[in-house]
Amino acid sequence: MNFTFVTLFPNLIYPYFEDSILFRAQKSGAIRIDCINPRDFSLDKHKKVDDYKIGGGAGLLMSVQPLFDTFKHISDKEAYFVFPSPVGKGFTQNDAKRLSEKKHIVFVCGRYEGIDERVVETYADEIFSIGDFVLTGGELPSLCMCDAISRMVGNVLGNEKSLLEESFENALLEAPSFTKPNVYNNLPVPSDFLKGNHAIISRLKNRMAYAKTCFHRPDLYKMVKDKRNYYAK
Ligand code: SAM
Repeated sequence: MNFTFVTLFPNLIYPYFEDSILFRAQKSGAIRIDCINPRDFSLDKHKKVDDYKIGGGAGLLMSVQPLFDTFKHISDKEAYFVFPSPVGKGFTQNDAKRLSEKKHIVFVCGRYEGIDERVVETYADEIFSIGDFVLTGGELPSLCMCDAISRMVGNVLGNEKSLLEESFENALLEAPSFTKPNVYNNLPVPSDFLKGNHAIISRLKNRMAYAKTCFHRPDLYKMVKDKRNYYAK
């Protein structure tokens, strides 16, 4: 799967892929990462990519020409344009799963006070926020989304079974997990985990997943309960 980052700061992107799982995923050819800098397409003699807002207002915007010409350069008909923005819909695990079916995703990383709206209206296939806060640029949100999507791409994770037990599968958060030793500083793991009875462990994990979801994410918990009540009718 191909990912292209349209960014004024490629050096913020490449280092993330120089280690660990996503480094190996690139080496194996499961994912490919490229950056394109709109500054290289600016027709301004000083390579300017931003300008003041028409009608006034604080700050600068990324302007139309460099971005339109950058996108024309991306000739791939299958390219799917994702714009990170605080005004977008919240990005979820389901979005990551759905987008992992695409062949080529282009993340358009905004800077300054954002991007001229005509660019967004012409090119955005989807607009996503990664939370109700404002960052200085779209590079971190794009990296977050790219990471979450890449994990769903075949041959990226060592053990793809782990995807099935993760948070947000079935709308629940993952149950607490433990590793060795069985007791550390007088802190034992739950004794049922040690008995080797997989049915008991699985039932306990399910209960813990509900409890954790209820405590940390009452909104998700309500959704799961409403769904269960609906099917129980
Ligand atoms: N003026 C914009 C507003 O109030 O909605 C904020 C622009 S922000 C300083 C610059 C860029 O950072 C945005 O164009 C977007 O690419 C990115 N960005 C900032 N916060 C984000 C968030 N919560 N989710 C996704 N992208 C975000």
